[in-house]
Amino acid sequence: MIEQLDVKYISGVGPQRATLLAKELNIHSVYDLLYYFPYKYVDRSKIYAINEVTGDMPYIQVRGQIAAFETAGEGRGKRLIAHFTDGTGFIDLIWFQGIKYVINRYKVHQEYIVFGKPSVFNGRLNIAHPDLDPASEVQLNSLGMQPYYNTTEKMKRSFLNSHAIEKMMQNAMPLLKEPLPETLTPEIIARQHLMSLNDALRNIHFPQNNDALRQAQLRLKFEELFYIQLNILRYASDRRRKYRGYVFRHVGAFFNTFYRDYLPFELTNAQKRVLREIRADMGSGKQMNRLLQGDVGSGKTMVALMSMLLALDNGYQACLMVPTEILAGQHYETLCRQMDGLGVRVELLTGSIKGKKREEILSGLQSGDVHILIGTHALIEDGVTFARLGLAVIDEQHRFGVAQRARLWGKSLQPPHVLVMTATPIPRTLAMTLYGDLDVSIIDELPPGRKPIATLHQFDNRRLQLNDFIRKQVNEGRQIYIVYPLIKESEKIDLKNLVEGYSQVCDDFPDLTVCQVHGQMKPALKEEQMQRFVRGEAQIMVATTVIEVGVNVPNASVMVIQNAERFGLSQLHQLRGRVGRGADQSYCILVTGFKLAEDTRKRIEIMVRTNDGFEIAEADLNLRGPGDLEGTQQSGMAFELKIANLARDGQILQLARDMAERIVEEDPTCELPKYELLWHQLKKLRKTNINWSAIS
Ligand code: ADP
Ligand code: MG
Repeated sequence: MIEQLDVKYISGVGPQRATLLAKELNIHSVYDLLYYFPYKYVDRSKIYAINEVTGDMPYIQVRGQIAAFETAGEGRGKRLIAHFTDGTGFIDLIWFQGIKYVINRYKVHQEYIVFGKPSVFNGRLNIAHPDLDPASEVQLNSLGMQPYYNTTEKMKRSFLNSHAIEKMMQNAMPLLKEPLPETLTPEIIARQHLMSLNDALRNIHFPQNNDALRQAQLRLKFEELFYIQLNILRYASDRRRKYRGYVFRHVGAFFNTFYRDYLPFELTNAQKRVLREIRADMGSGKQMNRLLQGDVGSGKTMVALMSMLLALDNGYQACLMVPTEILAGQHYETLCRQMDGLGVRVELLTGSIKGKKREEILSGLQSGDVHILIGTHALIEDGVTFARLGLAVIDEQHRFGVAQRARLWGKSLQPPHVLVMTATPIPRTLAMTLYGDLDVSIIDELPPGRKPIATLHQFDNRRLQLNDFIRKQVNEGRQIYIVYPLIKESEKIDLKNLVEGYSQVCDDFPDLTVCQVHGQMKPALKEEQMQRFVRGEAQIMVATTVIEVGVNVPNASVMVIQNAERFGLSQLHQLRGRVGRGADQSYCILVTGFKLAEDTRKRIEIMVRTNDGFEIAEADLNLRGPGDLEGTQQSGMAFELKIANLARDGQILQLARDMAERIVEEDPTCELPKYELLWHQLKKLRKTNINWSAIS
């Protein structure tokens, strides 16, 4: 059976290449190889003349010779340029990396076929990091489509490049004469009008035509997304059957009194709707697992508070877990203030609360005297036990891993209801994949009266103008954030930038108080600096992204982001959310160098254009791909798909989810013979797919 057949038995592979394939791409069997899909196809039937090429064309192919090599630039900007011509014109082939390799590999005055995305810079056509093939090796196949496969540097060094993989695939194709066992049931295939697995695998590598390629892609994307959904939904259904949820039947005195006499403002419609959803969940007998998404400033804390009051009304305790001590302190103060007189005992537990105070809190939790506990990770430590924990709210969830979330469950007889709040909006398709078992509520409305933050882009040579602006704002009594990147790979340089930036600011504003916060400071010092800003003693805060999470300083009205080109979109949006919390007009100023890469320009442009977190999250998914998305990496859930694209395949995902839902409902215990094939396949995938273990 070819499923188990070792890839080394394919002609052209052999033991050495087999080892490399296993190491670099995790390909062991012929089956693995067939599931290694091309990342693009080139229409090899068309060759353009260079004088027809324009900078806005997609990938193209030209044929000609390198007239000469030239190196240009210094340091980071160093690049190799090959002046390439076909007699009708010139195009620059440019490499920023692997310069030595390229010079050794390609020769002047030889025929090459060049493939790449053309663009225009300083009036000259160029292709950055093109593919070059000796013209003699490329067969201009009249059918056209040639597959391209990703390979690693190590593989390339052993000449195991895209072409080599293509040849292996060609040699593997005859094996498909004997049909592979289907991975989907005939019913699913018929209902979704899918291509058979055999035809799909054949056409994904060597498409007969465009239409067959699309059919093959659809089939394989559906299969991939379907099994991910089946996995998540089955897990969720298992859990639902195993655990019952506490039933919160009453809306009692705490909630009603608060609503009538304490609520400092009218709830927005979105807040009301979300509260209704939460109430229905907690009253249903199911254990709630709900993700509450709402942009920064949308009023998630109030929703958390009122949900906790519902737990109290039903005789249970509640807790609110946040990522930092500062934030915990802020929430504690806010909640105490808002509930003052209501007769609710709220306590704060963080790592720095020790000794007698700590013991007092712990015993209050055990006796049930403490109603609401607010805290950091300290809250899920072993020594902390509740009498009756009924609801756990987790704020700014992207800082918490799945494992930490799971620890909460042990805090009570049955798992408490869980409400996860996040201000990093996760696009729907990604949420369905990563948190497929969570229900999602969305606050899509800001409280009234907020002035939208004005976002401006400024080049870094206008420091004096920027300083004037900062001065004016400070004179009006406002506070200013200035943020520098601090990114792991270049920590030293970044830290230097920050430190220099700090002393520059101190020099520029000798009469103002400037504080400084970065991740490498001692926690106590960090806390002290932060507090000076929170209390308004410092007018300017120079910091790294450590301030990104939830701190509320309504008087801060300007967010200056230095080297904005180095931040991702969601990160920029998060940072911007630190301002615009008061009644004053707020500003976010994105400072960049003059030369910007195309996707950086897009990021900045999106930021300037919109304040809508969801639009930004979608754009981010499109620009970066989900593996890179914030929140997925921090929680250890980097996610890689073989063929589906979460940004683009939302519709297929929905179909796959609907189908998986139907099946789990019909066969919750995985016993029906007609679905045996599916459960078997799922088991197999769970064994081989490392991504999946991370999904909750
Ligand atoms: P986030 O969703 O970012 O956690 P917060 O809960 O901190 O937002 O709310 C931001 C601010 O808006 C707080 O000062 C809060 O008191 C206020 N707020 C919340 N809901 C409303 C409302 N319905 N009307 C007016 N102000 C509100
Ligand atoms: Mg918040």
